[in-house]
Amino acid sequence: MDDDVVEPGNAIRWELGASSWGTKKQDALKRFIEREYPWTSVLAVPHRIGLPTGDTDRLNELLDSVDLVVDASAAPGVTYLLGDICRERGLSLISVFASPNLHGGAVVFHHPESGCPVCMAHANETPEGKSGHIPYPNGMNDESTLVQPPGCSELTFTGASFDLKELSLETVRMAVDVLSSPDDWTVSEVRTVNLHNVKRRMPPSWRIDPLERHSDCGCRS
Ligand SMILES: [Zn+2]
Repeated sequence: MDDDVVEPGNAIRWELGASSWGTKKQDALKRFIEREYPWTSVLAVPHRIGLPTGDTDRLNELLDSVDLVVDASAAPGVTYLLGDICRERGLSLISVFASPNLHGGAVVFHHPESGCPVCMAHANETPEGKSGHIPYPNGMNDESTLVQPPGCSELTFTGASFDLKELSLETVRMAVDVLSSPDDWTVSEVRTVNLHNVKRRMPPSWRIDPLERHSDCGCRS
């Protein structure tokens, strides 16, 4: 489910390049996967989550037939919505995001009966000094590397796919693991990667924190 278009600017952090410019991302991926990997079936849903109408119907329609939800929206509001829907449906959710300057990121597994995305907000220690036992990925509050292209109303991320791939690889490995060994995945878990020590780029280093339900979170009721 996506509604974005492949452009020369965003192709640097995307799987396909010039042959897909001007094409909707989900159509480009569907064509690529079905051409290169026969017997794979892809359902591409053109929809932008968060529009005033249509989210619930489109999501319910889609989630009726899935075993695992992967959220790469990197938008907290969307992640909270998916967290609620997945918990109601007893579905696991994997959520992945990077910090704006790509000094770090996280891949988070949410089990429907364990810590949810709101529990994670409670558990995060933030750069502004909020206490918590799970650190925010490096660079989460640094927007200095974002740029505003001429004619665009929003700041744009400039990270490249060779850094983001650390996160997508862990997401795919986690998805395969969750689907093949579900008994090993009954507690939510935050996997945080550090790619930079503020002075210079570092080889990726990961830490793992379990994410239990938080005493102040509504998911307990
Ligand atoms: Zn919760």
